[in-house]
Amino acid sequence: MILLRVRNLRIYYSTPRGFVKAVDGVSFEVKKGEVFGIAGESGCGKSTLVHSLILRKPPMTHKGGKAIFKGKDLMKLSREEARKIQYKELSIIPQYAMNALNPTKKIKDIVWDLAREHGMQDKKEVEKLLKERLSMVKLSPKVAEMYPVELSGGMRQRATMVVSTLLNPDLLIADEVTSALDVTTQRVVIELLHHFMEEGIVKSIIFVTHDLALLRQIADRVMIMYAGKVVEIGSMEEVLESPAHPYTQLLLNSLPRMGVHYKRERLRGIPGYPISLLNPPEGCRFYTRCPYAMQVCREVEPELVEVSPGHYAACHLLGGGSRA
Ligand code: SF4
Ligand code: MG
Repeated sequence: MILLRVRNLRIYYSTPRGFVKAVDGVSFEVKKGEVFGIAGESGCGKSTLVHSLILRKPPMTHKGGKAIFKGKDLMKLSREEARKIQYKELSIIPQYAMNALNPTKKIKDIVWDLAREHGMQDKKEVEKLLKERLSMVKLSPKVAEMYPVELSGGMRQRATMVVSTLLNPDLLIADEVTSALDVTTQRVVIELLHHFMEEGIVKSIIFVTHDLALLRQIADRVMIMYAGKVVEIGSMEEVLESPAHPYTQLLLNSLPRMGVHYKRERLRGIPGYPISLLNPPEGCRFYTRCPYAMQVCREVEPELVEVSPGHYAACHLLGGGSRA
């Protein structure tokens, strides 16, 4: 069953020099019960994409396409409607989760405000739920009485995860939640996300990261983005074992391997720079950095073609139709 269906989504930033085409014709689905990874270098549009599903504030502009979630197009919701479904149906753990909590309120008051806004009225019940969830993420019930500044970074991260999942959202979006953490804390976060799925607290997760090695520990499927476009999409295993797009191949080669494990490090070592998204060229956006670039790549944008069942990539080397 499909929980989220995104079609040809275009999210631009309006700037004095024109529109920056941060997300430019992206399509994918998230199934119920899966962890869907979105990966790519910083600036590829992955954060813009997931944030646009929840809140679009200027200069972020919806220029086209749909995002159908539980029968509703997220791009058409009013601010009020969006607020209603946030936390309850669709929730995000932000990139700087450690600093996302209101510093002037105790954890229990942050949670009570949120619960009340979404129609819960029994304070005792909410406090009980909070204590259960704190214990689930291995935090003491005393944390309920504390202010965010009284918690360590790792504890604050877990408290934020409790807040984001308190109302059992169907879809949880985790945006680079592990990038500021040490390896041990990263592992705890990954385990907690697994646990939320197993307990049925969330149905599906979108996990956004630049770290493919980490993604491998959690994602069922992955979508690789480059310069605002989807370049490859498929099962995690298949994409890691048989990457079809030159960009994915280079990304994987840039990860130093340690035995069977990939070392967790920032992606590095692909020569050249991504093109400007202010006036992107007509053809393949990877053209300027691709070792296999051909004349056609410069002129014609490659379309996603199915290279094996459920595994797609957009590159002229793979043949298929083109959007001339
Ligand atoms: Fe490289 Fe051409 Fe494929 Fe783009 S379409 S990734 S430039 S070979
Ligand atoms: Mg980001």
